[in-house]
Amino acid sequence: MHVLIVEDTPEVVEIIDVALKLRWADCEVTSIDRGGLAPGIVASARPDLIMLDLGLPDVDGIDLLEQIRRISEVPVIILTSRAHEAARVRGLETGADDYMVKPFSATEMLARVQAVLRRASRSGGGAVGIITRESLAVDLEQRSVTVDGQFVPLSRLEWEVFSYLARNAGKVVKHNDLKQRGWGSTIVEDSVVKMCIRRIRGKLSKTGGDPEVILTHRGTGYSFIG
Ligand code: CA
Repeated sequence: MHVLIVEDTPEVVEIIDVALKLRWADCEVTSIDRGGLAPGIVASARPDLIMLDLGLPDVDGIDLLEQIRRISEVPVIILTSRAHEAARVRGLETGADDYMVKPFSATEMLARVQAVLRRASRSGGGAVGIITRESLAVDLEQRSVTVDGQFVPLSRLEWEVFSYLARNAGKVVKHNDLKQRGWGSTIVEDSVVKMCIRRIRGKLSKTGGDPEVILTHRGTGYSFIG
């Protein structure tokens, strides 16, 4: 397991680092005290979990979380000394999996880490495996979509939206959840989501796939056919 700690207080990093390595002997820990470095590490090293401090010296933790969510579904636990509700709620809305208010004990931290990792493995959040539907294959690891082996050229945004629907096959994904997933915000207009779905359907048809693999649930959202 590889854990990325984004935190500028050495004492907090130390507590997490020691506790994780005691609990998981093979745990690899990378720690950085500047948030600006995080997206690059997430993209290249693909950590299994991120512990993210909201009060960083160079960037706002919530903004950073938004950036991370645009490129990865890695589980994120927010570390905050901002005990007030607003920051926590905003963190969870932005896509954090859990949060801890500082100071926290090693025991509490390990319990939360285990719970988050368990949930992530159940929901397929670790992005492994291939989802197939007739000639269509959605490869979550390679981040690719193919029809009869032919590559469907999706943009990053289209991939986020389509793969999210595929992972939730058979379930109606609400407009707001898709907006959060693709655009990192619910402020986006419904028409923008609609356009994105139309582009994905167009690209599927062009490659010989079935555009109706995405179903429209008027006024609610979309689903990948279950
Ligand atoms: Ca801090």
